[in-house]
Amino acid sequence: MGRLVAALLIFTLTGSLTAQQSGQVDWEQRFKQLPDPQRMKDNMQRLSARPHHVGSPYDKENAEWILAQYKQWGWDAHIEEFQVLFPTPKLRLLEMIAPAKFTAKLEEPAESVDPTSKQKDEQLPTYNAYSPDGDVTAPLVYVNYGLVADYEELARNGVSVKGAIVIARYGESWRGIKPKLAAEHGAIGCIIYSDPADDGYTRQVPFPKGPMRPPEGAQRGSVLDAPLYPGDPLTPGIAATKDAKRLRWQDAPSIAKVPVLPISYADAQPLLAALEGPIAPPNWRGALPITYRLGPGPAKVHLQLAFNWDLKPVYDVIATMRGSGEPDLWVLRGNHHDAWVNGADDPVSGQVVLLEEARALGELAKQGWKPKRTIIYASWDGEEPMLLGSTEWVEQHADELRQHAAVYINSDANERGYLDVEGSHSLQSLMNGVAKDVEDPESKVSVFKRQQARVLLHGTPKQQAEARSGGNLAIGALGSGSDFSAFIDHVGIATINLGFAGEDPSGNYHSIYDDFYWYSHFSDYDFVYGRALAQAAGLTVLRMADADVMPYEFEGLSHTVAQYIEEVKALLESRRKEAEDIRQNLNEGVYAAANDPRNPTVAPPAREIPPYLNFAPLDNAAASLERAAAHYNKALASAQGKTLSPDRLLAINQQLAQAERKLTNAQGLPRRPWMQHLLYAPGWYTGYSAKTMPGVREAIEEGRYTEAEEQVLLVAHSLQDEAAWVDQISKELAGN
Ligand SMILES: [Zn+2]
Repeated sequence: MGRLVAALLIFTLTGSLTAQQSGQVDWEQRFKQLPDPQRMKDNMQRLSARPHHVGSPYDKENAEWILAQYKQWGWDAHIEEFQVLFPTPKLRLLEMIAPAKFTAKLEEPAESVDPTSKQKDEQLPTYNAYSPDGDVTAPLVYVNYGLVADYEELARNGVSVKGAIVIARYGESWRGIKPKLAAEHGAIGCIIYSDPADDGYTRQVPFPKGPMRPPEGAQRGSVLDAPLYPGDPLTPGIAATKDAKRLRWQDAPSIAKVPVLPISYADAQPLLAALEGPIAPPNWRGALPITYRLGPGPAKVHLQLAFNWDLKPVYDVIATMRGSGEPDLWVLRGNHHDAWVNGADDPVSGQVVLLEEARALGELAKQGWKPKRTIIYASWDGEEPMLLGSTEWVEQHADELRQHAAVYINSDANERGYLDVEGSHSLQSLMNGVAKDVEDPESKVSVFKRQQARVLLHGTPKQQAEARSGGNLAIGALGSGSDFSAFIDHVGIATINLGFAGEDPSGNYHSIYDDFYWYSHFSDYDFVYGRALAQAAGLTVLRMADADVMPYEFEGLSHTVAQYIEEVKALLESRRKEAEDIRQNLNEGVYAAANDPRNPTVAPPAREIPPYLNFAPLDNAAASLERAAAHYNKALASAQGKTLSPDRLLAINQQLAQAERKLTNAQGLPRRPWMQHLLYAPGWYTGYSAKTMPGVREAIEEGRYTEAEEQVLLVAHSLQDEAAWVDQISKELAGN
């Protein structure tokens, strides 16, 4: 409903109604014809021809080539450079010293059919960036995915990781969470391996015959504490310019606390096979032909790591097309260009889409189109180590962005499948509209219809009911894991992240096999989903840049907030139920009665029973926001057919662009001041996946009930501000 009203308004709000109407539609139609799969394929081959990680020669060459492309298409483009801490390995040693001797290879072999897999001289070895240096020897403990619940399960089995080295499998969390939780539980080292159950032969045929990770493939990646703050670890909150004031790397709080190394399952299997102790619970068992056991020991391992702690340059390519009507409102769009190795999928499949959009917009400009607002395209560097290029750029330009930015639209790796959209819920109806206007290249229905079908077949009963009603499909909330983080989490700019995925398993993430050979055999090799993404992201840019009233909408936000409030209430109740059950079981001797003396388990400790919390301030704020959202849609409808002066429209749009900022708090979340959004944040113990209403939710999850109540007030206050702000805009729209 809201979306429909907004769409009508775009076409009717100005005096030159008919011209405007056909003009808008015409430019969108022309735009959609332009993205060219063959160019994407050629550009992918060029950009992924050699390894191009931060600080490598080809990373710089790519940045310069991208710059030349933007300029050739008529953009005002330049490179912005920052100096960031980027450690590379000097020494990597992992050996088992008991009960048998084994030395891990730590090497991904070249494949004869895959030409770029042979570029050994330029490849970064397998490692986790921002592991500290270390030399540790200790018994090994298997910790499954290394999540909070996994440590509870270990405790039930009477296994402690204190003084041990843990081995965790990849998956289910941001990888930096694994060493973080290991260290919090007293471990002195952390190994992360790729189990074939998660991205190997269990799922599909391994590379090079299929897309999945081969025995000796390993996943590189950052282990920075991203939920604390992303970006250069030495310059939190400020840009990493040449003469910025820097922390010593030993003092940087986002660097992992214990040495950590990623390995293949070929290297992991002998270590896991040598473990004894309790049998791992059923859902902890991977797909290796061994009996998974927990330890500790008798496997004893020696892990030794040393790094070059160097500053390296990152090269962000920034291209601007100045707006003709409201140039001080900015529409931003970005995707990174750096990779761990050749990175055809991550990130080049997204980068070539971004470039095709920029070429198409340049083409429209040559044909006479002028964007109303300023459009900024960004090819970020340094995403892989932890969003370095985008975060430093946002920190450098934070004041301007707070004033001018209307939206940031992000993408990263793109594959075949469904259009996944996450982001600010004030853009939910815009994105539903975009999805209805882009055709799925395989099924030929709209990508909206395809996503709706997916929800109808696989969604929860509640999602199915919503999809059946034909309303807007809900978009997800943003956690972390790509360049949107600084925009939404730090500055509070309305943000969207989008891309196609879900049909091809991609098992070679962050390995030497994520390259042109892999992508052109196993992913979107005819680049038709590349074209569809260029159309979807491009239409989003065009609508944000050209609509008379920028297409925000607040009913989607208001519904989502109401849902988050129900969730945190339910969370408190389930915590209470758990605590009461444990207490009762302890009192009645239930754990002791069920114990198997040959496989003994330890009863869980009694927990504090949560107090009742006052959620009324949140309920009241949600009610205000619901009323404000309804007013806004009414005001939009009543403005239809009226001629609003350019000054009035500008004032309305400037206020709309500020609406997301009302959902932030300058003090940030408890213990993480960099994270300023009160509705979305990467989870403290999940990383990639979002915690919504994080201050309230995490305080309840972690049993800090006084803090939960403080956070309720803070969030309620900001929601009341948001409601008042939206009411003000509605008056501006409807008034005379
Ligand atoms: Zn990426």
